[in-house]
Amino acid sequence: MSNLSYANAEYGPWKTFLEQVDRVAPYLSEDLSKYVDTLKRPKRALIVDVPIIMDDGTIRHFEGYRVQHNLSRGPGKGGIRYHPDVEINEVMALSAWMTIKTAVVNLPFGGAKGGIRVDPRTLSPRELERLTRRYTSEISHIIGPQKDIPAPDVGTNANVMGWIMDTYSSGQGHTVTGVVTGKPVHLGGSLGRVKATGRGVFITGYEIAKKIGLSLDGAKVSVQGFGNVGSEAANLFSEYKSKIVCIQDHTGTIFNADGIDLEGLHAHVAATQGVLGFAGAKQIDNEDFWDVETDIIIPAALEGQITIERAKRLKAKMILEGANGPTYPEADDILVGRDIVVVPDVICNAGGVTVSYFEWVQDMSSFFWTEDEINERLDKLMIQAVADVWNCAADNKCTMRTAAYILACERILRARKERGIYPG
Ligand code: NAD
Repeated sequence: MSNLSYANAEYGPWKTFLEQVDRVAPYLSEDLSKYVDTLKRPKRALIVDVPIIMDDGTIRHFEGYRVQHNLSRGPGKGGIRYHPDVEINEVMALSAWMTIKTAVVNLPFGGAKGGIRVDPRTLSPRELERLTRRYTSEISHIIGPQKDIPAPDVGTNANVMGWIMDTYSSGQGHTVTGVVTGKPVHLGGSLGRVKATGRGVFITGYEIAKKIGLSLDGAKVSVQGFGNVGSEAANLFSEYKSKIVCIQDHTGTIFNADGIDLEGLHAHVAATQGVLGFAGAKQIDNEDFWDVETDIIIPAALEGQITIERAKRLKAKMILEGANGPTYPEADDILVGRDIVVVPDVICNAGGVTVSYFEWVQDMSSFFWTEDEINERLDKLMIQAVADVWNCAADNKCTMRTAAYILACERILRARKERGIYPG
């Protein structure tokens, strides 16, 4: 249990993270386990008021956050979320999962995350820009290319990153491309970044499917979330002849046992902002998503989706966690009991932060790679990382999630140990 006073550790995603750390503790070597409490509190958490003048002249206040969970291995790294449910408990957990994720794939970063409690769909483009610029100015003293490097997450995109880069640069008096990743390509962004997370979900799924003897050709896939991550993962599974039978987003759930035509769906979503009403599939109840006959489920929306009750009834052989924190620890236990393989978020969706790292490296050296070079490096790194996690799970007879935490925590806590505790 945490003694943090500013976030209730008794509920929500932060509680899930603490339980995941408790599960890995028995596997850590004695010299490192005494540092494990480092992970149970963020290094730094900033809550900011973000006032903006709305288009109608009124003033509205929004609450924003930036949490740096751990910086032992390098600058903080993690996205910025704009969503009505954002709160400190969630941002703390998301920042902590970034600490684990950057360590699993062995990037020289720590973990951070930020967000604003807002529904971006209710703001005009000018209001969104004002909100982003004021938020950036409020957190600008703790971010920077050597300190903490934000990126897109739910509700934010390359345009938002461009505004953050411009606002931060204005304060510095020169252009600082390396302060954010996921920027537009002509502002120092990286080729391949937009599709990187979905690509990583596919690569990890492809690798683990081979290990468990699941053929992707004809496999049925259900995807929750048809945004950046879910749509690209669906595209790649479809390219490999899997059938995307069910898709859910914030507007509803659609189903077609013969496979949903993704090209048509992309056009429909571009026109209507959601999957609901697509002519090539029938609408089903949102809860029925978890009853669909399927081989693979890809949660790629929000955390806390796979509950105990859903874990008992879902039909898949493999779950690919595109989203961060979609599965409760108790649900994990049920999935283990049912022989359902879970490829955990901290490796499954690490493709995005990996190409973010490539973007940061390119910005720092002002030398840019081709998309083929990016994808080649991404594929190689993800294949190695997922094999390491699989082998660690086999060696320790544990789940892939615990294995990923073992690998990550050893790296993080060794860095903590070798840096020492100041002032000693
Ligand atoms: P996005 O905003 O592009 O898409 C989110 C999708 O989720 C949309 O289709 C939206 O309709 C859907 N959604 C929202 N609320 C929902 C609900 N209640 N039920 C069903 N669907 C809902 O976001 P994204 O970038 O694709 O991120 C999705 C998940 O992946 C998040 O958990 C995020 O933290 C994680 N992630 C994203 C990246 C990245 O590079 N974008 C990297 C790693 C992890």
